[in-house]
Amino acid sequence: MDIKDRFAFLAEWYDPTACLLRRYQLFYYPNDNSVEMFDVKNQRIFLRRTKYGDLRKEDLFVGNRINVFSRQLNLVGYADRYTANKLGSKKERTLALLKPDGVLKIADILEIAKDAGLMVTNAKMTHLTWSQAADLYVEHQSKPFFNSLVHQVSSAPVVALELMGDDAVSIWRKLLGPSDVAAARKEAAHSVRGLFGTDDGRDVAHGSDSLAAAARELEFFFPTAICHGPPNTALYSDCTCCVIKPHAVSEGLTGKILNSIAAAGFHISALEMFNVDRANAEEFYEVYKGVVLEYTDMVTELSLGPCMVLEIHGADVAKAFREFCGPADPEIARHLRPTTLRAIYGTDKVKNAVHCTDLPEDAVLEVQYFFKILDG
Ligand code: ADP
Ligand code: MG
Repeated sequence: MDIKDRFAFLAEWYDPTACLLRRYQLFYYPNDNSVEMFDVKNQRIFLRRTKYGDLRKEDLFVGNRINVFSRQLNLVGYADRYTANKLGSKKERTLALLKPDGVLKIADILEIAKDAGLMVTNAKMTHLTWSQAADLYVEHQSKPFFNSLVHQVSSAPVVALELMGDDAVSIWRKLLGPSDVAAARKEAAHSVRGLFGTDDGRDVAHGSDSLAAAARELEFFFPTAICHGPPNTALYSDCTCCVIKPHAVSEGLTGKILNSIAAAGFHISALEMFNVDRANAEEFYEVYKGVVLEYTDMVTELSLGPCMVLEIHGADVAKAFREFCGPADPEIARHLRPTTLRAIYGTDKVKNAVHCTDLPEDAVLEVQYFFKILDG
């Protein structure tokens, strides 16, 4: 076999039963979409070469987490030079911080990032304290605008996004445009700041200006160690839970769905990206077990990749939001309720774009499941 027909990675899987980190070589064959896994420690084949349609070449790069037959694998290295050269050369991560004025534009900004080939690999809405914002902008502490900048960034919730892609740091800076809004409007009318910056100079969003800054700023919002980043903004009252499902996230529908939700007048009070493992997906969907035919497939879908979870806030919002999501089966939704989220963005009963709380009395519990238990 020609090595060019195959990509090779080092992958880690945390085995919760044995409390062990297991290491594999993972081979991916793009010609027929098949995968093969080799157990590094025991030096034997773990998974014989098998077709696996749910894996896409775009998702294969070091630092990403992928799902192979319901196992969440962290790709920690390239296992040969060919793969490293071919797939690894320019992948970067950067921090995009939507400032309070930018949060309102999140849907459009996600579309802009997606169209430029940047993937959202983490997301969290948070309300920074004055001192957290001051930490973040420590490089500017001697500047005359420092106080007003810190005040503005801590005045209301912000959304931190981890963006990943080729040359992510410079691409996101370019998409942002100049920090002077008047200049942005003139010189880069289609940039984020050119489009959404305000007359009083609020510049919508921030972008790391180097790989080193990106590493520091991402660690601030999405720490890798046990310590927690800034807290989420969930309110746990007058709310309902919405999960933008993994298939919709990976199809790049997040921005469009958020746009539809905002256009329908719903208010998002918390937002965070989660990687749900199979055990947690089973627990979250427990009430559907033995009741809904698709239970097992729903569990698989929810654990197949990152999902975006929202707390929707408003008096008696659960029922109204559920109606806005539409019938669980998108085919039926397209006939009966063609303007609902599932009619527009759903594929089938399992890949139906969004989960929403069914019974209003479960809403707080579902919001708590993500924002208190899984985020805890
Ligand atoms: P950028 O966000 O483009 O990297 P800087 O790092 O220079 O820009 O500045 C950080 C933030 O400080 C800017 O996003 C902007 O909100 C604010 N800022 C920068 N320069 C000024 C200024 N001259 N007056 C007021 N605010 C400023
Ligand atoms: Mg800067």
